[in-house]
Order: sequence, then structure tokens, then C-alpha cells
Amino acid sequence: MKLHASITVQGAVQGVGFRPFVFRLATGLGLCGGVRNGPGGVLIEAEGSEENLQRFLERLRTEAPGPARIRDVEVRFGEARGGHGFEVWESEAGARRTAWVLPDLATCPDCVRELFDPQDRRFRHPFISCAHCGPRYSIVERMPYDRAGTSMRLFPLCRDCGREYADPGDRRFHAQTIACPECGPKLVAWDAGGGQAGGDGEAIALAADVLRSGGVVALKGIGGFQLLADARSDEAVERLRRGKQRPEKPFALMVPDLAAAARLGEVGGVEAGLLASAAAPIVLLRGRRADGGWAIAAGVAPGIPWLGIMLPAAGLHHLLMAELGFPLVATSGNRLEEPIWISEAEAVSRLGAIADLFLVHDRPIVRPLDDSVVQVVAGRAQVLRLARGYAPLPVEMPGVEEDQDPVLAVGGHLKNAVAVGFGRSLHLGAHVGDLVSPEAGTSFRRAVHDLPELFGVEPERTACDLHPDYHSTLVAERLNRPLVRVPHHRAHVLACMADNGLPPPVLGVAWDGAGLGEDGVIRGGEFLLEERGNSRRVAHFHPFRLPGGEAAASRPVRSAMGVLFEAMGRDGLAWGARRGWWEEGDPWVRAWDGRASWPVTTSVGRLFDAVAALTGLRTGTGYEGQAAMELENAAPGFREAGCYPHDLPMPVVDWRPMIREIAAEAAAGVAPGLISARFHNTLARMIVGVAQSVGCTVVALTGGCFQNRLLTERCVEGLSGAGFRPVWHHRIPPNDGGLAAGQIMGSVT
Ligand code: ZN
Ligand code: ZN
Ligand code: FE
Repeated sequence: MKLHASITVQGAVQGVGFRPFVFRLATGLGLCGGVRNGPGGVLIEAEGSEENLQRFLERLRTEAPGPARIRDVEVRFGEARGGHGFEVWESEAGARRTAWVLPDLATCPDCVRELFDPQDRRFRHPFISCAHCGPRYSIVERMPYDRAGTSMRLFPLCRDCGREYADPGDRRFHAQTIACPECGPKLVAWDAGGGQAGGDGEAIALAADVLRSGGVVALKGIGGFQLLADARSDEAVERLRRGKQRPEKPFALMVPDLAAAARLGEVGGVEAGLLASAAAPIVLLRGRRADGGWAIAAGVAPGIPWLGIMLPAAGLHHLLMAELGFPLVATSGNRLEEPIWISEAEAVSRLGAIADLFLVHDRPIVRPLDDSVVQVVAGRAQVLRLARGYAPLPVEMPGVEEDQDPVLAVGGHLKNAVAVGFGRSLHLGAHVGDLVSPEAGTSFRRAVHDLPELFGVEPERTACDLHPDYHSTLVAERLNRPLVRVPHHRAHVLACMADNGLPPPVLGVAWDGAGLGEDGVIRGGEFLLEERGNSRRVAHFHPFRLPGGEAAASRPVRSAMGVLFEAMGRDGLAWGARRGWWEEGDPWVRAWDGRASWPVTTSVGRLFDAVAALTGLRTGTGYEGQAAMELENAAPGFREAGCYPHDLPMPVVDWRPMIREIAAEAAAGVAPGLISARFHNTLARMIVGVAQSVGCTVVALTGGCFQNRLLTERCVEGLSGAGFRPVWHHRIPPNDGGLAAGQIMGSVT
């Protein structure tokens, strides 16, 4: 007897060759009916014997194409309606769109092979793609996902492409982004002023010439402009640094392939998997500059033994890297405090003074996406910057009802990203950046409107940080919807819980640079007990005054003076004076006795700065997190270092005995690496101590401080050894880039 089945498949199933897969599966089983993209996912009407329908449903889950992720399959059986053949139907538009939006996918191995095959009709076509790869989020204008809803609609398929699109046996069957030299976007090279320098056939050779001779090329990549330069050339790297007004922060590199990556850095199994993944992120590798065979310019990552390395993510990258064969600096196309630029006009006006040549094309980028950054912590991937290849990230919220109203979360002030939540899931958008310039503000406000619109939801509430001065909070207040203000460190803890799919109870360890607490105090060394419907601060670091307030964030010496004074009083000030850190009459210390006006903080981030300064590793200014990174990187080799004394008169974690000891050791000339190792060990021991007195088994490590691998790994070891279950971040960044996810959670629980 024949049956009819109406099937809805939810998850990441649009734009991954899912309908062609359904078509082939159904045809192979002799079913009739059809498949279409709907607003709620992929809809299938299938008719056949009960046995074949069951087999179909089974294989639907087990044989789905690589990038697809099925969340849910809903089936309604009914009486047979008759009919023959199986079809792929046009998309259905609708009010509430709950299908997932797919991230951009790096060129797949099949397409790379065709790209370099002189016999293939897409030989050297920079915009090659198929159902399994190509741009997605960066070119989507609206859902459901098909060509008419992307910026590929400007390039009608030619006859040959049309034939592949219609052929169920072809890898490009119903692939929305396909193109060829005949019908696809055209590449062109412009000079620094935006004048034509070369057409489609010669643009890549021109760019290669510029790069070989030490010049800078601005390339229109997948999610925005990238600035490229020869990574082996000191002058080229130096020019790029001057142009971008970025004196020291490490640059990422692009290399031709995995083997090239392994010449520059240590590539383990996890790292190799990440480098070659469809997300193709920047992966932080422990560098081996000395024996690499390629001398990378010292200016690429000054003072840091790690290199951020990525492989080509698009046809254009592959062609350029094949031409050059050497590593390139590949950094976001922007200057200090600006967002990544996506249009030719912006790029020429903003980057014209930096770049010698522009490599551009006529396919518009719909939304900006930086390159993502990932590191490996305790053997697992951890996303530090969520952007191209990962955004928008769907996350199932643990312990949340199916029918949640739509919520928008606007994130924090630095490393901003926004998120939407509806039903049981939240979707974290791409890294927007630090909201410190008018241009970044514009980019942020665009993201605030874009994300809900793309998912077809009208948020009923807005979730934001407690901090009244964050640009994101100010914008949220003007949206005319009920506001939910989620405390900064609670948002960090909830983000970590969402990342790990954990319901309460959880002891959250939220350590970072600064976040506003409910009492108006700036915090950063928090222990929160998250229970069902209740969040409680159960412990915190002993507070200290930060000389000069916020400005201390980029001046480790000021943090050091703050903790020295707190731990040792006037003796601490004398300690700093012996180092020449201050003199009577210095403007920033003149107010020392009137220090009551300086803000108090519990910040572990500033404690890291202070210890970096005490050891002499870094006293001067730099980029955010630099001092802590240098401290972390000094420690390896001192594994059996032991711990410093500390007290836990709950709820206070008292670090003052530790600082007194560190000051004494530093004065006696103890190696900075040894002090650093002991400092890390002590912090891990403090967490174990607090966990023991709170008595909660699951401990979530979150906040910017847990970007520190050494700290995370020591804590994971220590907690596991003491019988606790440590969890940390994997998909959602531990830094403020993950706040929006936690804010969504905070507004529905
Ligand atoms: Zn492909
Ligand atoms: Zn074509
Ligand atoms: Fe934070």
C-alpha cells in the first residue's frame, strides 16, 4: 500500500545541495512528489511504499551532504494522492523564517581541482563554486536562500551553467552561486586612484607583480577588502603597519596550502582540520620561524611566538597564491578603529594611501565579514573572533521553551557582535569590532537591523549590557522596545553555558578586563553561581584602585602601582619609584593621596598587566591584551613551578600575599617565566579553592582572560583533578564577542 509523507527538515539545510540530495535519494527509491525550500526549512512531499518511505527518512539523516546540519525532521503521514516523478519546486516565501542562514564556505577540493585544470571550462575562473562551497552569508540579501535572494542575481546563468543547474546528476544541480567565465563576475585591477590598470585576463598577474616587488594590494575578498603584502619583506610589512596605524598587533598570514602552513608553524591534527575546513579561519599556530625555510619579517608578530595562519578561502586567493608560492600578510582592509570596508568606493577612498593596486570585481558584498580567528585549547578548537565561515552561528539554548518570543541582543562595546534569539535557538552574528569610531557605529547599527530582518523576526525585546555608556546600550535605548539589561559577567557565564549546552546549576568563573556590576562597580574577577531563575555572586577578587581609571588598561605600570599600593601601601609606591615608574610630581600620581576618586576594580585582566609589569616583561603601552599574552608566553618551561601564597576568606579571593611575594622575587631577579608560571598556577588553585567552598560540580571558565591557553589548561587540569567538571568556550568566543549570546540567554531565562 502506498502512503504520502509531508516532511519538514530544519537546520542548516539551505544552500548546501540539500534539495538535489533529496531529489537523488527520492528518485533512487522510486518515490514521487517534490522538494522545496520553505521559510521554515526544506519541505518534502513524498509518496511510496511504507518501507521505501522509512528508508528515505533514515537515509535523509545519515547521508546528508557535508555542510548540512539537520536539527529536526517532522513527518506527517497521510493517504496517497497519486502522481509520478519527483521534482524540485520553486521556493516558498513566508512571514516567519526559521531556516538557518549558512556561513560562507571555502572553495571545495573538487572546485580547486577544476580551477587548475586547463581542460575545464572554469579553468582559472576566480568565482568558481558548487553546491558544496562558495559565498553564502556575505552575499545573502533575503531568505529563503536562492539565487534571486543573493547578489549573484546580477549574473544570470549562461546556457552551460543553466544546464548544470538543471541536471540532477551534476554537482552544481540547484547550486545558487555558480558562475563561469561566460556569465560570472569580472575581475579587474585598479591603480591606487581607482583608475583601470588591467582587465580580467591580466589582473592577477599585475597583483602578483606588485606583491613580488614589495607593494601592497587591496583585494576584494569574500566578506570585505583584505590588504596583502609579502610577509618575508621587512619594508612591505613596515609600510602596511604605517598605513594601517597599527604598530605592533600581530598580522595574519595566508599561505598556499597545508604543507606551507606546517613550514611556518606547528600543525597538529586539530589545527590541520581547522585550516582545511570549509570555514577556513585564521588558526593560531606556534611559530617555528627559525627552521621554516621562509624567513618571516619580524614585524609580522613582534614579541609573540604564535603566527595566525590561513589557507586560501576563495578562487581568487587560490589563483594568487599559486602565482606567488610564498606567504602573504593578509589583514582586514581598514585603518585604526575602522570596520572592514566592503565597497570599491569606500576602499579606494580609505585605503588608496596604503595600497598600490586594487583587485576588485563587480559582485557586491552584502554584509561585512572579517576573517575568523581560532586557536586550539586543551586539544579543542576555540573561536576567538567569529566571522567569515562561522557567522551566523546557530546555538540551541539549554533549558529554554520552544515558543520564546524574538529577542535582539546588542552585545558589548569592544569586539562587538549582535545576536537574535527566537524559539529555542539563538543566532550569533559576525564580529562587528570595537565601537569606538563613527564608522564602527554605522556598521554596528546596520548589523542591529540586518540580523533580525534576515531571519524574518520582529524582536519584542532588546537585551543589552548594564553599562550606560556603551555605544551598544545607547542604541538599544533608542529602539523603543522593552529593555533587558544583563550584567556583563552574567552574560559571559550564560554564553559559556549555551556554548556547552549546559543547564544550571553552574559555577561561572568570569574573568576579564572590565565590566560593570549591578552596584556600579567595575569588576573583572567574578564567581557567579547560576541556578534556575537565580544568579548570585558567590566570590570575587579583592578590589584595588586603578590610577587614572580606564586609561590604565593600556598602561601596565598603572595597574602594577594599583596592586602594589593595595598589597603593600606606601612600601608598594616606593617599590615602583625604585623602578623609575613614577616620581613625585608626575601628573598621574600627583593625586595619589586623593586616590578616592580613582575607580575600584576586581579585574583579573589588570592583575595580569600588573604582574607583567612587575616581572619587567612589559611596562610600556601596547595593544589590548599584549602584556597578558607576553606573560603567558614567558611561562612554558617552568611547569613544576609551584604556587604563591593566597587567602580565600570567602567571598573574597585575596591575591595580596601573592603580589608581595612576586614583588620580592622580581626585586631579587627571579626569571619572569618562573614568576609567570607560578602566577598561572596560583590562579588555577584559587578557582579550585572557590569551587570547593561553593560545592557546585560544573565550573564554567569564561571572559577575556580565558583566551589565555595556559590559564585555561591549568584550570582544566586543576579542576578535573579535584573532581570537578570544567567547561570552557568552543564556538562562542570567551571574550566580549560572545556577550550577545549570553544576553539572549539572560533575557529568556
Ligand atoms: Zn565546490
Ligand atoms: Zn556560466
Ligand atoms: Fe568582558
